[in-house]
Parts: sequence; C-alpha cells; structure tokens
Amino acid sequence: MHVLVTGGAGYVGSVVADALLKAGHAVTVLDNLQQGHREAVPKEAQFIESDYCSSKDLDSAFRQSGFDAVMHMAAETIVEYSTTDPRRYFHTNVVGGINLLDTMLRHKVNRIVFSSSAAVYGEPLTAPIEEDHPKNPINSYGLTKLMFEQILQWYGRAYGLKHISLRYFNAAGATEHLGEQHNPETHLIPNVLRAALTGTPVSVFGTDYPTRDGSCIRDYVHVIDIARAHVLALQRVDDLKAGGYNLGNGQGYSVLEVIQAARDVTGIDIPVRLRPRREGDPAVLVASSSRARSELGWNPRYPKLEPIIESAWQWMRTHRTTFTGPI
Ligand code: UDP
Repeated sequence: MHVLVTGGAGYVGSVVADALLKAGHAVTVLDNLQQGHREAVPKEAQFIESDYCSSKDLDSAFRQSGFDAVMHMAAETIVEYSTTDPRRYFHTNVVGGINLLDTMLRHKVNRIVFSSSAAVYGEPLTAPIEEDHPKNPINSYGLTKLMFEQILQWYGRAYGLKHISLRYFNAAGATEHLGEQHNPETHLIPNVLRAALTGTPVSVFGTDYPTRDGSCIRDYVHVIDIARAHVLALQRVDDLKAGGYNLGNGQGYSVLEVIQAARDVTGIDIPVRLRPRREGDPAVLVASSSRARSELGWNPRYPKLEPIIESAWQWMRTHRTTFTGPI
C-alpha cells in the first residue's frame, strides 16, 4: 500500500515510517517540522513539508500521490501545555483531524490508523486498564484524542471509513538510527538520560502520589514495538471492528524506579531534584494489551524496561552534542 504518514518526521512517526518501508509499503511523510526533524525521515520515503491542518496542502498531496491509507500521527502532544493552552489542542488535534478525514473522503481513501493515547482514560479506576474502561480524560490533550476516536467511529458508521486507534502508553527507546529528540523535552526517559550526560539533575514531578514510592507509575513500551503494532493494524484495518487498542507491556514503573534503572544501565549516579506535581498527570497508567495481542497478533519484543532504556542511551550517546546544550 501507499501510506501517508502525518507526523512522520517525529519520534514515533519516523520509526513507523521506517517499519512500513521495511514491510514493503510505499511511504509519504507529511510533517510541518514544528517538532519533527527532516533528517529523521527515511530516505526511501517521499517528504512533503506541510501542515495537515491546511486543506489546500492536503488536497494537493492527495491529488498527486494516490494514497491507500493514512497513519495519522501528527498532533499537539505535550500534556502539560494542554492544561494551560487547550485551544491549540482543539484546533490542531480535532479541527485539523476533521480536515484530514474530509480530505480522505473527497479522495476516496478509506483506511486510517490513528495515534491515540492512554490519556483518554484519565485517572484509572482499575489496573491494568482494559479498553472498555471508562474514559474521563483529565487534560485537554487526552480529551482531543478521545474526541477524535469518537469522530472516527461516526465516520466509520456513516461513511464506511475503516479505522483503528492505537492507544500508546509511554513510548520510549530508540532504533539504531532514530530516537527521541523533542524541544522542549518533557518526557521522563530522555530527561533522565540527559541528566546522566550533563550532570544537571532531572526533576521528579511529585512524590506524594498514592503509589508505592509516591512518584507516578507508567507503562513504558519500546518505540519499535509500537511501530510493529502499526504495521499489523494496517494489515487488519479492513476487517477489525474493535476500534481502540492499548499498547503497553502491562508492567508499571515509578519515576524513581525508572531513574534507578537508568543508573544501572548507564553506571552513572544520576542526580535528581524533587519537585511539586506537574499539572495533568494521573498517578498510575498501566495497560492491559490483551486485545492487541489476541486481535492484532501483537507480541512486544522488548517487554522489559532496562533494554528500552539501554537502546535510548545508545542512541543518545551517539547524538550527544544534541543533548549536552543548555536545558
Ligand atoms: N516526569 C518527571 N520528570 C521529567 C519528565 C517526566 O518526573 O523530567 C514524570 C511525569 O510527571 C510523569 C512521568 O514522569 O509522572 C512520565 O511522564 P512523561 O512526560 O514521560 O510521559 P506522560 O505519561 O506524561 O505521557
């Protein structure tokens, strides 16, 4: 298939584009390079520097290329800012997303795999979280992901759009050539490893959560495993009915445990600074991914935290000049 990957110059998007190419698909990446990096787009992919919120640009991309499917990964993603500047999230993630769907319909492209998030669940009532767990997002980022999933359901019902939403838990790790590089970086593992490289303490946001050590618990999943789930979802999007699939390893690690694991991997006594809670963070997010396993045939190759951190560390060390600048 010829797949349009929106956000394919970003962290997860570039690894997905690479996996699609390796699986024999043709790939066009569309990215405005706001967070993405031109050099992260695989050489075999076509690249369009553009914003998916522009119908004019989208129309011309769809006219020229004849896509069979879309992987929609572009979005505003920083949870914390979504609590202080929600309109950006509604405009980009919801209004822009509808614009993308309408362009797809105009050009008779009827398959989409959507990058959704564990943030759709909000503060969980049970752990691990199953897909039919109540969805009460506590930040506008999670709400925009939930709204778009629901819009997909309606477009499926009314216009025959085939869709799968993949609810990522915490994407982490790197391939040999592609890794995480956001500006600003808000994610835990790259920040912990940058502290290892620079000696500047990493912030621990909140030590008074109702968890075993007071810090937040998350389910870290290797970006390579996330990318493999996308390839599987594309194979099955025509016949699966469920809509949403969790992608996680079913094992939660606290912020302090992640820091300790990173100390073990790097051999460096990473300094920390204890800080107040960050707005919008649920205490615990751990996935049950049994639906993805049974229906998509997804079987994570990197279920343990240390190899995930190890891969991120390898990548970061080979790109160390990018990470040793001012924080
Ligand atoms: N976190 C932290 N220090 C950092 C970055 C993140 O303590 O420099 C915490 C954050 O508050 C959350 C967890 O680590 O509890 C995971 O955050 P991240 O931004 O990596 O992913 P999220 O779960 O928000 O998508």
